[in-house]
Amino acid sequence: MNQQHEDQQTGGEPRERESHKGKLHDIAFLGTGIMGAPMAMNLLRAGHRVACYNRTRAKTEPVVAAGGRAFDTPAEAARQAAIIITMVTDSPDVEAVIFGPEGALQTAREGALWIDMSTIAPAQARSMAERAAAHKIRALDAPVTGGEIGAQSGALSIMVGGEASDLEEALPVLEAMGQTITHCGGHGAGQSVKLCNQICGAMNLLGVCEALALGYKMGIAPETIIAVVGAGAGNSWAMQVLAPKIAAGDFNPGFMIDTQLKDCRLIAEAAEQAGVPTLGATVAHQLWRAAQAQGMGHEGIQSLYKVIARMSDMGEGPQAP
Ligand code: NAP
Repeated sequence: MNQQHEDQQTGGEPRERESHKGKLHDIAFLGTGIMGAPMAMNLLRAGHRVACYNRTRAKTEPVVAAGGRAFDTPAEAARQAAIIITMVTDSPDVEAVIFGPEGALQTAREGALWIDMSTIAPAQARSMAERAAAHKIRALDAPVTGGEIGAQSGALSIMVGGEASDLEEALPVLEAMGQTITHCGGHGAGQSVKLCNQICGAMNLLGVCEALALGYKMGIAPETIIAVVGAGAGNSWAMQVLAPKIAAGDFNPGFMIDTQLKDCRLIAEAAEQAGVPTLGATVAHQLWRAAQAQGMGHEGIQSLYKVIARMSDMGEGPQAP
């Protein structure tokens, strides 16, 4: 089954959804970081009730200001929930907030649906779904793409692995956060598609960085490259969203290099297991590793440009074009 939901409304302002379009749920939202907070706020805007948890409590504040309730542990947040959403960093973090001593499974209601929207290893998604089933909790893996801007505008593309009937139940919830919702296959399939997405995203951004650096050295303004290439075959999300940030010297994180390096590791592991060479992704991986070594781990992935700029002898400083 390939189920895709499209909506006419695109980017910009957060979407207001009519509550009658879907059943309203009690939702536990675990992990209100860069992506999780705006996603939880879109659930509130759609009329769902949200109980949230974040390890650093202060990051729940925007969700509470939007009408959510914050709890000290995942277990407390999950007590009333029909649907539990996780949006944390990596597999061990999902493990901690779901299966840990204060994890959601300590209190989760039998038959609750758990949707993991973090990016983790496909094999981990499969094994955690099996373990959740032993606790009578159904699981979907539903990683996302579209960045912080997509999380804010409710325009994410969501890749779902698991039972079609569980996705059907989750649709009103996923529709509050995403514009394109695709059933990719069984447990772990959403994560597999996400890793393919990350290869494309890495390649596109590397291309943007090299193009801007070469253009700069040849005396071409970044605005010219963005306007011309962005209207042609060289266009990409990286060109539209990240190139203007590079041009403006904005290296703040919508997606941190530290988190990107986790995805690079997941791609390398999956490619090794599958016996597929991923040469381009490996180059981007090493350049982000260099950026991290130079102290840029908490900057946005667009700081890849700074590594290219340093390799291109553009001098010191922020090195925006
Ligand atoms: P983030 O801002 O670092 O958010 C991750 C959140 O998870 C943080 O609030 C963190 O809590 C919490 N967390 C991490 N480990 C935890 C643990 N062991 N126990 C409890 N809480 C824990 O990162 P993000 O950018 O929102 O990314 C979240 C996920 O979405 C990642 O899997 C990422 O790969 C994926 N993703 C990100 C983007 C993007 O553009 N940012 C796009 C698509 C997918 P603290 O506040 O205490 O650190």
